[in-house]
Amino acid sequence: MKLKMKMSTNKHIPLRTCIICRDTKNKRQLTRLVCDTGGSVQIDANGRKPGRGAYLCNMPECWQGAVSGGHLERALRTVITRESRDQLAEYGNNLIVDC
Ligand SMILES: [Zn+2]
Repeated sequence: MKLKMKMSTNKHIPLRTCIICRDTKNKRQLTRLVCDTGGSVQIDANGRKPGRGAYLCNMPECWQGAVSGGHLERALRTVITRESRDQLAEYGNNLIVDC
């Protein structure tokens, strides 16, 4: 049996996994967080910052989970400062859920 040619018209969509709900989604539906060289956590809106990254989907629950639990710290292998936590929590609260 011949193998069918793979659908070459389909563009490759990069998929990433949310570290909280473990959902795999289109990269655009996730936000990348990155741990910079100074050890502080930053929101990487363009997904281009160097450093260890972790993805969260654009759901306030996941951001709350990341801030309150230790998941994000483990994923980024860093200790998240209170300042960063506040910043992330605020970002999560301001997310507009479009689904
Ligand atoms: Zn999620």
